[in-house]
Amino acid sequence: MTARIVCTLPLPDPAPGLLSAAAEVEVIGASPSRERTEALLREGVDVLCPQLGDRVDAALLDTGLPRLRAVCVYAVGYNNVDVPAATERGIVVANTPGVLTDATADCALGLLVASARRLCEGDAVMRAGGFTGWRPDFMLGLELRDSLLGIVGFGRIGQALARRALACGMRIAYADESQPPVPADLAPHVARMQLETLIAEADCISLHVPLDESTRHLIDEAALRRMKPTAILVNTSRGAVIDEVALVRALQQGWIAGAGLDVYENEPAMAPGLAGCRNAVLAPHLGSATVRTRAAMAELCARNALAALAGELPPHCVNPQAWSAGAPPPVR
Ligand code: NAD
Repeated sequence: MTARIVCTLPLPDPAPGLLSAAAEVEVIGASPSRERTEALLREGVDVLCPQLGDRVDAALLDTGLPRLRAVCVYAVGYNNVDVPAATERGIVVANTPGVLTDATADCALGLLVASARRLCEGDAVMRAGGFTGWRPDFMLGLELRDSLLGIVGFGRIGQALARRALACGMRIAYADESQPPVPADLAPHVARMQLETLIAEADCISLHVPLDESTRHLIDEAALRRMKPTAILVNTSRGAVIDEVALVRALQQGWIAGAGLDVYENEPAMAPGLAGCRNAVLAPHLGSATVRTRAAMAELCARNALAALAGELPPHCVNPQAWSAGAPPPVR
């Protein structure tokens, strides 16, 4: 039986070459692709490579049974996959951690600087012919040096942002539900804080938690109302970590000074009113969008898929217990 892999969107090099050397590869390419994905899974697929916008729920997994053995996500976040349902069905789920850390931290820093210094608002003023000359009180923003950056979720990307923000002279506090290992060179420069305290005291807050039931609407109306009215909120994690409707009110009514967003609760849609908030810097989910990072993610995704075909646990498997009763035999 020829091995069969389905990618819902084309993956960059080197994935196509790596995958097609080991399997027949079908790329759907259309969005939304749920119906086509279901049809292909019914025909028989060994590995599914979905994108972060593709919902992989129990019903979709069932259409792939008994053949589907792995879901290899082209992202580090895998909140779009029902992992417990995959585990119950003996299907491993794999992701692409690490290789997108720096690109995403760069994006978070960019949103932080652009929001604090009102750069996009200024860009709009220039384009509208609204710049009438330098004035001492024109478009003043927040100075990064000595401002307190509160990082929520101090894993790979949170720590990479901390290093960048230290270079800007910021003070760093972090909140994390676990005890993340902090390298010895970084530890003396960062302080752990309770989330409630961080929300009330930070000048800038940047979110780096995975989306799950513990982080959905972590920043809700109450949290937004506790933030400083001069504070900036940055989100490069997942949109639903913030209650986006409440955020629009916070931006419109001045509960906070501004926001830099890369991700949205109902992507690609935005909450009503958000596009009209001049104090929001809005990026279209660009966190990992560099040529080098996307290629590195493609390679990891392909290596995960190839391992699964070979009957080995993918190198970045998030639910190894799915195969605790034994890995399936190699597909050739
Ligand atoms: P990571 O696992 O290294 O770090 C996440 C940290 O969040 C961990 O330290 C964890 O303990 C902490 N955490 C989990 N739940 C928490 C909670 N309820 N409260 C406080 N802390 C909590 O992950 P990472 O590689 O840094 O990636 C973080 C997230 O960023 C990903 O899950 C993904 O959704 C998102 N991301 C987005 C983009 C983008 O394009 N915008 C790119 C990469 C990653």
